[in-house]
Amino acid sequence: MILILKKDVQPDGTEVQKIRAFFENFPDINLKMVEFEGETRSVKELHVIGPTHNVPEEVLKAMPGVETVVRVSTKYRQIGRHDVNFVPIGFTYNGIKFDQECLHVFAGPCAVDTPENVEATFKKLKEMGVETARMGAYKPRTSPYDFQGHGAKCLPWVYELAGKYGIKVIAMEVLREQHIEEIFKALEETGHPTGVMLQIGTRNAQNFELLKAVGSQNQLPVLYKRGMGLTIEESLNACEYIASEGNRNIVFCLRGVKSQLGAPHRNLTDFAHVPVIKRLTRLPVCVDPSHTIGSKQASPDGLMDIFHVAAQGVVAGANMILVECHPDPDSALCDGPQSLTFDELERFLTDMSIVREAYQKRVNTWSQKIVREMTEAA
Ligand code: PEP
Ligand code: MN
Repeated sequence: MILILKKDVQPDGTEVQKIRAFFENFPDINLKMVEFEGETRSVKELHVIGPTHNVPEEVLKAMPGVETVVRVSTKYRQIGRHDVNFVPIGFTYNGIKFDQECLHVFAGPCAVDTPENVEATFKKLKEMGVETARMGAYKPRTSPYDFQGHGAKCLPWVYELAGKYGIKVIAMEVLREQHIEEIFKALEETGHPTGVMLQIGTRNAQNFELLKAVGSQNQLPVLYKRGMGLTIEESLNACEYIASEGNRNIVFCLRGVKSQLGAPHRNLTDFAHVPVIKRLTRLPVCVDPSHTIGSKQASPDGLMDIFHVAAQGVVAGANMILVECHPDPDSALCDGPQSLTFDELERFLTDMSIVREAYQKRVNTWSQKIVREMTEAA
């Protein structure tokens, strides 16, 4: 059970003291205060943990300071939507708003290689009005003999270049706790010219210690990529690990699941789950068309499969796209075959705005119709 508290209630104020006193009648129940910052208001919730079936909801609802009482209907205590009253307020990081309404494109190379290529990428993004990028410094590779990423040593110049071109957030994968510390250090030393969204890759989707590490800091948001062999339930529980440590600024990313049934694609596209994640949780949802497809093959209509699947995610309401591009994909040190050239990226962005408009039109058409029908029926 979760009690959403009224706006002006203080965590140690008299209203909360009264609620705590009420729960002294239920010795097996523990209370946990959870606070998070939205753009327009901060939200305080009192989480009621333990056997709540005998707790009278109506009495709590009538108590001063209580705005709503939500019975937690699923296991996703922190990230779950639970109830229509739970409006997902999202979060703002470094001036960029993330919620279930937005759409941001994070484009860039799979792996950071040279300062020239990184600078060319940021410059191109700036020209196109994009303030969000992806850049891998720590790469989890299938073979130990493949390029493993430049690691900590590239961070200062990547961040400085990002700042030079007005890039606000870079999605960057971390493989161990030490990488988080290295990112903090580089941001600090360069004077925070940009922001970082810590990426949990599919291979670490159930690395619970790493999940707890990104969850136990609040400065940087987290991009959690679904485990390639995990169910939605398992992946959402993994996100719950992050959130239960205190960091609820999480974006959930679909990136395809491993199955021969996806062939000739690298993975089987799972973007049908975009609305499912939005229904089950309060998290913004990202799609990664690059890793689900794995090549730049196109259909007879001239559009690459990468465009088509990204469109499927966006037309279903995705809030973020993670897409790989490189100034010269043939020379990329990782995932060149699926990386868009800058010209292709420009076309990709145009295509995504067409599809985004279609999504908005769908929502306006059908939600208005449903509201009308409900009004007529009343
Ligand atoms: C990536 O986005 O750089 C990546 C390695 O993706 P995934 O973890 O989905 O394979
Ligand atoms: Mn890649």
